[in-house]
Order: sequence, then C-alpha cells, then structure tokens
Amino acid sequence: MALTHEFAWSASRASNFAECRRRHYYHYYGGWQGWNRGAEPERQQMYQLSKLTRMPMVAGDAVHQSLARYFHAKPGQVADAKEVSDWAVAHLRRCFGESQSGQWQQSASKFTHLAEHHYQEEVVRDRDAVAAYGKSFVERIERSVQGFFASRDLAWVREASPDDYVFVEDPKSAFDSFTLHDTKIFGTPDFALRDADGHVHLYDWKTGRPNDADAFQLHVYAIFARLKWDVPLEQFTAYDAYLNDGEVVRCDITPASLAAAEERIRASAGAMRELHFDADRGMGDPEPFPRIPLDSPAARACGRCNFRELCGR
Ligand code: SF4
Repeated sequence: MALTHEFAWSASRASNFAECRRRHYYHYYGGWQGWNRGAEPERQQMYQLSKLTRMPMVAGDAVHQSLARYFHAKPGQVADAKEVSDWAVAHLRRCFGESQSGQWQQSASKFTHLAEHHYQEEVVRDRDAVAAYGKSFVERIERSVQGFFASRDLAWVREASPDDYVFVEDPKSAFDSFTLHDTKIFGTPDFALRDADGHVHLYDWKTGRPNDADAFQLHVYAIFARLKWDVPLEQFTAYDAYLNDGEVVRCDITPASLAAAEERIRASAGAMRELHFDADRGMGDPEPFPRIPLDSPAARACGRCNFRELCGR
C-alpha cells in the first residue's frame, strides 16, 4: 500500500519545528517521496539528509534495542549485563560499518548513514580520531547497561515477571500512534509494567544527560497510557531512568500539569498545521518555513544540522 502524506505531531517534531522551521520543511515535506528513484534530485537529497543520524543517537538506540531484547527473552534465557552490553556494542559497530562502507547507498532507510561521515567531521578524519570517538560510545553503552543492572530503583523491574509487563518496545512500536484533538500523535514509550496493586509504572530509558524536554515527554506518555491502555492518572507513574548513573527520577504528573501538556500539544500542533500542505502533490514552497537567521544565537544549531549543506552553513 502506498504511503500517504498526512499531518502528525510528536514531541521531537515539535521541538524540531520550534528550533528551525526550514529543517521541519526539509524533513517532513521537501524530502517526502525522496526514497523513489524517479523523484526530483532535490527530493532525494533532502530525504537522504533526513535519514542521517549521529553516534550519540546510534548508541542510544543500541541500548534501547538491547534492553528490549533483554525484556523479550524467554524465562530461563535472561541475559546478564555482559551479554546485553555485547549486543549493544555489536549493534553500534554494525551501524558504524554500514555508514563507513557506504552501504546506506543501497537503502537510506535500512542502513545507517552518519552525519559524521557525510560531513567528514573531525572525529572521523583519521584512524586515531575514529578509534577515540568509537571508544567513547562503547564506554557510554557499557556505563548505561551497567547503570541499568546496578540501579537499586530498577531491581524490581529486572526481577518482574513478564506477565506483569504492560509494554516493551519493539521495532514495530515506533509506528504506534494515538489521536488527540483530531491529531495523530506519535510517541511510544520504552517500557511499562503493572505492580501487585494494578498501578502502572512507565520507564523512559535515557543514555544522555537530563534535558528540559524529558518531563514533557513523560506527560505525552501519560496521555498515551490513558488513551491506549485505559490507565487513569491515579493509577499511573512515569520515571526517567538516567542509565549513565542509574538514577531514576519520578515525574510529578498532576491533573493540572497534564492539562497544561495537552494545551501545549494543541498549540504546537495548531502552529504546525498552519504551514501544513499535502507533499504528495509536490514539494511546495519552502519560503513560509524560514531558516534560523545567521546572526541569531540560535544559529548554533546549524553546526549540527543534517541539512546544513542545503543552507550553505
Ligand atoms: S542549517 Fe540551520 S537554518 Fe538550515 S535547516 Fe538546519 S538549522 Fe535550519
């Protein structure tokens, strides 16, 4: 079945949109259908740039996928920290290899293409730089997995019976969505389980530092839990699990904070909708999606933007 261009909201789309409208255009409009070999070259270029990733994201994905594999294991076959860490490091190495060898050219959606390679950044310019850069992410993965297995707050999660799991992410769950205020919302949690009293505890695995957006994301999951699992707020608690140091932070979600989050989603989706057009009909006009002005402090974001070659930055 052919994919159709449609409006959707997610916390990451919203943050992208808030930071740079033009990047939002390149990612969700200009590059749409750019996977078709017969598409205009600009579309193909925007699509390929939209698929670029970076090593911190690959390392984060590696930990997420390995923890999901740990939770999906059959009883009696549960892995230990070393095995989970080995899976994640193998994933990181495979992705780096796909990017370095140019395998992504066969399919930008199936194989990893790193912005570090595409833009020939300092960290991949010579063998020593690559070794040091790669090692820093291997160490990050090992610290995160160690943090998961050593955390006392997560002991009951590690020991829980799979019968009590409410949700474990898998490759298909990335496409899960729900509808709020007539808007399709993407935002799937990592892991949730039910305690003996029927209370649902949701965990978001974090391999990076705490971020201002973390609590908002957990509010989005609280809405997801209500709409998809029928779990009311009184029976729901969400946590950010910062795996680097094993710290688990409970998010204070109240009826008022949840209403504020819904209002924030409504306002953000409304602003995005004002610029929305059907990209199945063509690439549209990028002008209503302005670039960050060069003289703005916000232009610091351009240095790490996947699309910087299109903006000449
Ligand atoms: S390079 Fe800067 S202005 Fe251009 S899309 Fe990226 S963030 Fe926006």
